[in-house]
Amino acid sequence: MKKHVLLSILLIPVLLNSCTSVPVTTLVTQTPVYSLPTVPVLRQDVKHIVAPGETLWRIGKMYDVPVDEIMRTNHLKDSATLSMGQSLLIPKASPLRSIIPLYPNPKWKFIIIHHSATDEGDSLSFNRHHLKRGFAGGVGYHFVIDNGSHSKVDGQIEVAPRWLKQEDGRHCKASEMNCKAIGVCLVGNFNAEKLSSEQMKSLVYLVNTLRKYYKIPPQNIMEHGQVPGANTDCPGKHFPWQEFKSALGAS
Ligand SMILES: [Zn+2]
Repeated sequence: MKKHVLLSILLIPVLLNSCTSVPVTTLVTQTPVYSLPTVPVLRQDVKHIVAPGETLWRIGKMYDVPVDEIMRTNHLKDSATLSMGQSLLIPKASPLRSIIPLYPNPKWKFIIIHHSATDEGDSLSFNRHHLKRGFAGGVGYHFVIDNGSHSKVDGQIEVAPRWLKQEDGRHCKASEMNCKAIGVCLVGNFNAEKLSSEQMKSLVYLVNTLRKYYKIPPQNIMEHGQVPGANTDCPGKHFPWQEFKSALGAS
């Protein structure tokens, strides 16, 4: 299997006063989560399953492939025909990049870390599961960090529709966190296993990006189980909290 290199891009909408506005995207910066300088990066054709909230524009950015190339390869006549769960062939794709949009919004005061408590999963499968549980809007988290299952890249940061729409979470009722906390879910069961090093790198990158942008103080970055009133061991007894906090560089 060819090695993927995961990069992340920050996108900051020019102006977003309303929670429901559609972001106008401006490329601000591009920061690698990690790099492998001695390994040449090769483009290759890859299969991509459309995740909740993904558009052709977003998928094109993730793989650095023009939208019209993706449309031509997949015989798509209209970009609006894209549907969740659809399989696409991405021609000559660059290594996957995670696109992280940031929206000016004063409501985000906390970041809550979760695990999925499942061996595998992704935004698409959680979306199905959460819809079955009656969560309006589907997947209850704002971000999902994959573990390489379900054909995702280990450490891939998926942006859920809830974040794209700046909607309240459905991930932590305790202390009314759903309306003020960004929910980040790591795929895995960290009562039984450890998160991967790629997941840790992506988590540190994502949380640092969010805490700096929203000026979230270190004490407001919490494990789900640390939230007052939450009766859970999420994100699991093997989640390396001290290592994570040290890596954040937050004090
Ligand atoms: Zn949780």
